[in-house]
Amino acid sequence: MVKNKAKTNFNPDRIKDRIESVDRATGYYHIEKNDDLKSYRMIEGDNFIRVLPAYDAEHDMALDIHVHYGVGGDKSSFLCLKKMKDEDCPICEQALKYQQAGKEEEAKRLRPARRTLFFILDREKEDEGVKLFEAPTASVGDPLISLCLNRRTRKIIDITDINVGYDVIIVRKGTGMTTKYKSVTLDQTPSKLDDESLLDDILPFENLLHYESYETMKAEFLGKATRKDEEKTNESEDDFPEIDTGETNDENKEDLSDQDDKENNDSCPEGFAFGEDYDDEEECADCEKETRKLCRKEHRAINKKFADKL
Ligand SMILES: [Zn+2]
Repeated sequence: MVKNKAKTNFNPDRIKDRIESVDRATGYYHIEKNDDLKSYRMIEGDNFIRVLPAYDAEHDMALDIHVHYGVGGDKSSFLCLKKMKDEDCPICEQALKYQQAGKEEEAKRLRPARRTLFFILDREKEDEGVKLFEAPTASVGDPLISLCLNRRTRKIIDITDINVGYDVIIVRKGTGMTTKYKSVTLDQTPSKLDDESLLDDILPFENLLHYESYETMKAEFLGKATRKDEEKTNESEDDFPEIDTGETNDENKEDLSDQDDKENNDSCPEGFAFGEDYDDEEECADCEKETRKLCRKEHRAINKKFADKL
């Protein structure tokens, strides 16, 4: 995978794209935005990280969270109120409605995804400091935590120990929907954390969690709903008439009809899900213009396809 990022030269197109992307203001996000704390993104191939110790004795090195991704036209992400706080969650409620109506695919799309948070140091980019790693729980989070158990001796080892802990190696193959995590293993030799001051940047995980209210989540889910729902006769789903794409119909028409130039460009150079993850990642702002445009089209096409099914 080749990156075409300018490291030193001023690139007016990129700056313009970045400014425009801020103006476009994507939706709600389930983690508090924090300029000092970058997110860690795995690359395709080998990833070398050091999981950092827990904030204090009351906390663990990891925290499982449940997230509804891609909600509404702005692709907001919300912490699931049901799983996280045992409160009513509008997205889960709608998933249940779909399930009861036999619409398993739609239900599945709305269910919360499990993620595991870690504070880590990217061994390849130590100068970037402490990062927050939001790992897919089943494929990375759980296997990573289980590395703390020596299966032979049944002893628990502290892989985060700053003097005698271990780095973790995660091997990622493929991108987007074809992503597979081939292995999550410990480095064979223990290593030190050279800069102990990094520990000062670790926070209690709960300080980073951003909750929205039931009403806000529901409104976002309904999106900038069109009037189309008023014509529907189906009364049973009147609370949640449809998922709107968040775009005007004219824009969608244009996007769906103009896909000739899509060939050979429909993969994400950063390894994220092409279309699905549009503008979700911090790297998106730096993306090459044409790829970004195609990704945006794909994103809208996916939303449109989904909305049409309802
Ligand atoms: Zn939920």
